[in-house]
Amino acid sequence: MPLAAAIRTIPDYPKKGILFRDITTLLGDAKAFRKAVDELVQPWCGGKIDKVAGMEARGFILGGAVAHQLSAGFIPIRKKGKLPHRVVSVAYELEYGVDEMEMHEDAVSPGERVILVDDLIATGGTAEGAVKLLRQGGADVVAACFVIDLPDLAGVKRLQALGVPVRTLVAFA
Ligand code: AMP
Repeated sequence: MPLAAAIRTIPDYPKKGILFRDITTLLGDAKAFRKAVDELVQPWCGGKIDKVAGMEARGFILGGAVAHQLSAGFIPIRKKGKLPHRVVSVAYELEYGVDEMEMHEDAVSPGERVILVDDLIATGGTAEGAVKLLRQGGADVVAACFVIDLPDLAGVKRLQALGVPVRTLVAFA
């Protein structure tokens, strides 16, 4: 079954006009979940990746599985105020206004090779914030991986402009 068929679309969630791409159906389907993780990691199998960074919250589920598959560590990137130790923070754009995301200041060491993982890239604002945090810690952001791309919102181009190679599996135009 193609991965796209395992993703549920919910119209008008969380508000009118948004087509919410719901990956809980993919996660609940053992074959689709494995296929998604296998395809996400495929370019780096056998290569050296030190850590995988996942963005709260769906990036934790996929990123944890990707980290396990690559025998890499995992870095949680969280919304403001959730991490217990000292953090570095960055502001990022939401549709209306800005918010902050945080990472533990010792989560990454200079020169470590890190892959960023989330379920979906839209405008790329969230992923750009995460790249800034990782680079602040001296990480080499080797790639950013997403199950879903919304190409109309051009987030992939935005990350590529920062010098980050991007891997996506399914596009919804
Ligand atoms: P952006 O920063 O615009 O690239 O938005 C990406 C983040 O928002 C990801 O963490 C997604 O999980 C979430 N997101 C944005 N648009 C959608 C959508 N249409 N369906 C599901 N999640 C979305």
